[in-house]
Amino acid sequence: MQLKRNVLLNPGPSTTTDTVKMAQVVPDICPREKEFQSIMAPMREDLVKIVHGRDDYTAVLFCGSGTICIDITLNSLLDKGKKALVINNGSYSQRAVDVLNYYGLPVIDLQQPIYTTPSLSEIENVLKENNEIGYVYMTHHETGSGLLNPIREVGALAHKYGAFFITDTTSSYAMIPINVYEDNVDFCMASAQKGIMGMTGLSYVIGKRSIIEASKDYPKRSYYCNLYMQYDFFERTGEMHFTPPVQTIYAAKQALIEYFDEGEQAKWSRHQRVMAAIHKGEERLGLKEILDRSVQSGLVSAVKYPDDENFSFDKVHDYCYERGFTIYPGKIEKQGTFRLCALGAIDEADIEEFWKVFEAGLKHYNVQIPVKYNEVQ
Ligand SMILES: *Cc1c(COP(=O)(O)O)cnc(C)c1O
Repeated sequence: MQLKRNVLLNPGPSTTTDTVKMAQVVPDICPREKEFQSIMAPMREDLVKIVHGRDDYTAVLFCGSGTICIDITLNSLLDKGKKALVINNGSYSQRAVDVLNYYGLPVIDLQQPIYTTPSLSEIENVLKENNEIGYVYMTHHETGSGLLNPIREVGALAHKYGAFFITDTTSSYAMIPINVYEDNVDFCMASAQKGIMGMTGLSYVIGKRSIIEASKDYPKRSYYCNLYMQYDFFERTGEMHFTPPVQTIYAAKQALIEYFDEGEQAKWSRHQRVMAAIHKGEERLGLKEILDRSVQSGLVSAVKYPDDENFSFDKVHDYCYERGFTIYPGKIEKQGTFRLCALGAIDEADIEEFWKVFEAGLKHYNVQIPVKYNEVQ
């Protein structure tokens, strides 16, 4: 079967290989069969291996998009009498605050500027003054802006004050190398359609067994989204508590084979190569980004809309989309931005092709090149 290849420059789902797509086409199987369990057990181990965890860490799989892991970790890991501390510097950490508010859980919402890394001394002060903080939560890579947060430093601060550290690594896991020990990570998370370049519908929390086991006695706030319940079911039966996303798991199995074949460093180098090609095209066309390069993750570039009355994101998007390239609107309030992302099974040649199409799109709509901005910088 010949499938059309689309290059996705949105922040996930990512472009996948044909072998991963085709791995979903399998004979019908009931996921309660041993044959299916024999796929999930090594998968859980592989997911821990990606962040260099050993036996003291485990991976718990869930059927859902990445946000399910935010919900699960936040609601399952807060003991009675404890407070959550969220370092809030972007739309994904705001989502964590929203989740905690929906559950009515006590949270210190530490708002920080969104264009730069958070203040470690402010974080330390909050920890010093609030000894009831159970965990510190931070987004590793704020996908809306492309900001990379300092997990190692913040994880160390959490541990210094007796809290544990949860980080949303949905848009960095299996892309930026992470080592849970060196990076002071107790819990991280991701979704199969991002870093491992699989399909949507499978997400996972990777974290310390001892903390999950201790959480058995924490207040239960959700029936479906409880970490201990799912962990315990896996440990006893090798299965997910409820129906797993069967075909997505077959695709993830293949994606993990391809991940380890490519290798952690080679894959990260490829993503960086893709981002360098994205930056090169921006410079050529005069496009400006909202973040300084020094604080960027290397996986997302958030670009300011040119100040040109002929520029319309929707029109340029459609022009590129019709030619096989998907670009994505921004997530920065009160500022027109769009995003170009370096995840997925793509390489610099795809980006070079993309820029030709994008430039032709600008010309087609009579947008001035190099693009212009009103502000002086
Ligand atoms: C993609 C993403 C998620 C999950 O989003 P879903 O739409 O639920 O898949 C969570 N956190 C971050 C940082 C992400 O980039």
